[in-house]
Amino acid sequence: MSGTNPTAPDQRDDRRDLQMTRSLETLMAAEPDAPVPRVLEMLDECVPLEEKGYRCLNPTCTEFCAWPKMRGQGRPKLFCSKTCRQQHDRVRDRLVAEVKDLEVVRARPGTTRRQGEELDSAIGQRRWALARYVGVDFDAETGPAVVKGGRT
Ligand SMILES: [Zn+2]
Repeated sequence: MSGTNPTAPDQRDDRRDLQMTRSLETLMAAEPDAPVPRVLEMLDECVPLEEKGYRCLNPTCTEFCAWPKMRGQGRPKLFCSKTCRQQHDRVRDRLVAEVKDLEVVRARPGTTRRQGEELDSAIGQRRWALARYVGVDFDAETGPAVVKGGRT
């Protein structure tokens, strides 16, 4: 993001509240060689993460998951509960299996155009729903601050 001028000093007073919405990227572009203490300061100046956390990754759940405030509060969670994680995985796996099955059927010879359209629609709906689900190649509840042993 070079080529844009940083905010001129005389504009800063007028834009005091805008300053709080500057991204870390913008701040670091203005001071690319900032020492670590300054970079840590920038973290307090840049756009914060959502204070109340983010929605549980079970697409049908409205609960929020917050980053643990203290060390003893356990690892950061992507799902509000074990139930939500299990439901997420179950629904995702079912949808993936349905898409696979339907695509095999779709490829059969002798399907009419009308049938093909219905199958395409059913496949499309499931892919549309699946866009809300996350993959399982990693342990979904393990955050970057936590190293979980035993898995390779
Ligand atoms: Zn949930």
